Amino acid sequence: MNEHSLRLDPTRLGRTLDDLAEIGNRYAGTPGELAARDYLLGAFNALGLAEVRLERFQYLAYERGPAACALSGPARVEFECHPLQYTATGEAAGEAVYLGEAAEGDLERIDARGVDLAGKIAVVHSMFPFDLVSILEQRGIAGLVHICETPDGIVGNFTGALYPPPLEAPWDGRPTAYCGVTISQPDGRVLISALTDGAPAEIRLSHHGGYREATAHNVVGAIPGRDPGQVILSAHYDSQAEGPCVYDNGSGLASLLDTARVLLESAPRRTIVLLASGAEEIGVWGASAYVHAHAREMGEVAGMVNLDGIASAYPAHREIWSADAALLELAVQTGRAQGWEPYRVMNVRSTFSDHAPFADVGIPACLLWRPDYPYYHSRGDVRALVDERAVAETAGVSAALAHRLAADPTALPQRVGIP
Ligand SMILES: [Zn+2]
Repeated sequence: MNEHSLRLDPTRLGRTLDDLAEIGNRYAGTPGELAARDYLLGAFNALGLAEVRLERFQYLAYERGPAACALSGPARVEFECHPLQYTATGEAAGEAVYLGEAAEGDLERIDARGVDLAGKIAVVHSMFPFDLVSILEQRGIAGLVHICETPDGIVGNFTGALYPPPLEAPWDGRPTAYCGVTISQPDGRVLISALTDGAPAEIRLSHHGGYREATAHNVVGAIPGRDPGQVILSAHYDSQAEGPCVYDNGSGLASLLDTARVLLESAPRRTIVLLASGAEEIGVWGASAYVHAHAREMGEVAGMVNLDGIASAYPAHREIWSADAALLELAVQTGRAQGWEPYRVMNVRSTFSDHAPFADVGIPACLLWRPDYPYYHSRGDVRALVDERAVAETAGVSAALAHRLAADPTALPQRVGIP
């Protein structure tokens, strides 16, 4: 088999997307999470993968509770909000300061004006509010209002802290020192307008979610190779808190199963490990626990390919992310050979999704995807907005890349210790 004959089947992918849409929401700690786990375990067995098993891990579960966000004073406005998961519970009130995306330049701007954020409520526009924890904690904010970018006035669901996760009690860094909420884009405009009319504005926030220790499972299977060495292919099966989350990450799971099906025919030299990971959305917990539990094997892993948010029905750009320059180049070439030309090639360390913990122990790890999906992490992420042909096209590049890594020991420069 050569990588040009590795084609994923949109019809099969579509059937898995239908099944996952029927299971519905899969947020960690809910019955939907368990239903998805058991569905994948059944699918791994039905495919005939070797060593199919559940691997248990501990994490800190979040239980949703009420949250509120209001602009106080004469022009009192109450905003619809969702709790920013893994932020402190309780109440906070203070002067509101708009930080844009809280990027370096935004912080320089407020520093130049001598604004002290301690005890204040930061208002931030961000796709990745979890990346701001250390900077906002250092500055001693009392609370965070996260304005999401979801269309139609929908309030999305986000975690305030993501990666790296603590793997055992006392769950250092969870929850964050400040409490937080997410509000919609239209409400964000109202809020920013109130903050820029010249008068100081005070915001009151509250968040009454709960935290408890819990267990979840990774679903693991393998396609045995004839030589030593491993390649890992992974997709998370949990979802954010609302909706069937068909793009994130039904698209990755459907891709994982169909890639396993075609690679089973490939007689790989290296063993291909299939990992359906748990509790990614709230802390990359499953993949981090996998890397920790298999620390001694990590030296045998030649490469890791993550399948997360593969493609939707939207004409989003093609992107490849990897901290490893050689794998990035191989991924670009593999894409080009299939007519999949990347628009953005990101040679950076990631702080999101399942490739992060693998990359952080030195394994070449990557994600090929078409992000910029507007309904990401919201109840609007539904089956009708995911096109299985687009998923097949993008995941087909990941499948060819995994095949290459498993078939050709010279595909990447030799690393010390890799068989
Ligand atoms: Zn995801």
